[in-house]
Amino acid sequence: MKAWSGLILSAVLAATSASAQTPPPPGSAEALPNMAARLRDRALSGSGAYDILESLTTEVGPRVAGTPAYGRAKDWAIAKMTALGFKNVHAEPFAMPVAWTQGVETAEVTAPFPQPMVITGLGRSVATPPEGIEAEVVLFPTMEALQAAPPDSLKGKIAVLTEKMGGVESATGYGAANRWRRRGPVEAGKKGAAGFLIRSLATNDNRAPHSGALNYDDDAPKIPSAALSGADADQLERMAKRGKPIRVHFTLRPTLTPNATTWNVVGEIPGASSPDEVVLVSGHLDSWGLGTGAIDDGAGVAITLAAAHLAGERHPRRTIRMVMWGAEELDYAGDAYAKTHAGDLSKIVVAGESDNGAQHNVAFGMPAGAADLPAVKTLADVLAPLSVKFNADPVRAGGDDVGKLAPLGVPQLSLRQENSHYFDIHHSAEDTLDKVDPVEMDKAAAAWAATIYVIAESGVDFRKAAPPPAKK
Ligand code: ZN
Ligand code: ZN
Repeated sequence: MKAWSGLILSAVLAATSASAQTPPPPGSAEALPNMAARLRDRALSGSGAYDILESLTTEVGPRVAGTPAYGRAKDWAIAKMTALGFKNVHAEPFAMPVAWTQGVETAEVTAPFPQPMVITGLGRSVATPPEGIEAEVVLFPTMEALQAAPPDSLKGKIAVLTEKMGGVESATGYGAANRWRRRGPVEAGKKGAAGFLIRSLATNDNRAPHSGALNYDDDAPKIPSAALSGADADQLERMAKRGKPIRVHFTLRPTLTPNATTWNVVGEIPGASSPDEVVLVSGHLDSWGLGTGAIDDGAGVAITLAAAHLAGERHPRRTIRMVMWGAEELDYAGDAYAKTHAGDLSKIVVAGESDNGAQHNVAFGMPAGAADLPAVKTLADVLAPLSVKFNADPVRAGGDDVGKLAPLGVPQLSLRQENSHYFDIHHSAEDTLDKVDPVEMDKAAAAWAATIYVIAESGVDFRKAAPPPAKK
C-alpha cells in the first residue's frame, strides 16, 4: 500500500514537472517572444548553472592552462557537455608558446623592520635563483613615476609600484591597471631593476595577493615579478615614510613550459533547420592556480553552458555552439580558435563570452547596425524584467577570446554583468565557490538563454546588418 501510494505520487510529480518543464517539440508554432520569455522564466526557476560550477570547482579545482589539472578540466568539460546532450563534443588542441605555473613564493622585509610579506608571481614571470633575491626597494606611487625614472637608476634594486587600482568604472580601473601589471616588469627591467613588485590589482586591500599575466619584451631584461597583497603595499608605504632604506627578499620558483598543449573544448546543439548558421557562446575553462576559479571563469562557463543547454531544448533553427576557452589568462585561446576555424568563421552569426563573474547582467550590447532590428527589440522586451537594458554602442569585442575573432568579421555580442565586487577576489586565493550566489547565476543564465534563443530562432543576421571588415 505504502509502495503504491509512493509510486502514484512520484508519477503525478513526474507528470506535473514534465508539463511545466519539458520543452515543446520542434516546429512549435508558439510566438518567439513568448517562447523566449518562457525560457527566461524556466532558467530563473533553476538553470543548473550553479550545479555545473559546483561540479567544476569541486571535482577539478584550479586549472592553469598547459598543466595536468587543465587536462582534467578538459575531460570534465567533455563529460559534462556529453551528459547534457550536446553533439560534436570535442577538444581542439593547440600549443601555447609558454605555460606557467606557480611554485614556491616567499617574501619578507629584511630591513629596517624585518617581517614577512605575502606575494604571488605574475603569469609568465621568470624564476628567481633558488635562494631568491635580496635588495633595496624603490617605491613608485604611479606608473608614470616608474616610467620617468632615469635609465640605470634602478640598477640592482627591486622596483615596487604601489599605485592603487580604481573602482570598476574609474579611469584607473582594471583596464588601465592591467597595463601597469603587464608593462611594469619591462619598464623596471629596462632601468636595471633586479625584480619588480606591484600592488595587487584589486578593489580591496586584504592580505590575498592577486595574480595576472605580464608581457615581457624580447629586447628588455626579463626580471622576476610578483604582486604584493594590498595590505603589504600599504605596509611598505608606511615604512618608507620612516626614511630608512628598506630591503626586501623574495623567492619565486614557477615552472615555465615552452610549447605546452592546451585545448579549447567545443560542443554543439545542431540547428533544427539552419545548422550551418552558428550562435557561439563561451566562457574560459582555464584559471589561475590560487583559488578554484569560481568567478573567473568557472561561472562564465557554467552560465553559458546552462543557458545554451536550456535554449537548445527549444530546438531553435540555428546551431548553438558552446566553446570553453583553453588559455584566456595567457591570451592564447582566441587566436588558436581563429587558426583552427579559419575556413568556417563566416558561419558564426554572432559570438559572445561571459567572463566577468557570477552576478546578474545589467546591459546587453549588439553588433553595429543591430539597434533597429525587430529581433533586438524583441530581446530588449524579454530582458526588461531582468533589468537588463539595451546599450546601443556597437560591441567591438564581446570578451578577450571572442574579441580575437572580431577583426576576422565575426559579429560580437556582450551581456555586461554587475561586477562591483568582482575585483575584490579575481585572480586570488579568495576566488572560491562560497562567493557565488546560485540565484544570481540563474538570473545570468536566464539572460543568456533568452539571448541565445532569440538569435538562434529569429533568423536575425548581424553579418548582413554590419558587413564584416575586410580581412587582413
Ligand atoms: Zn577571466
Ligand atoms: Zn582572469
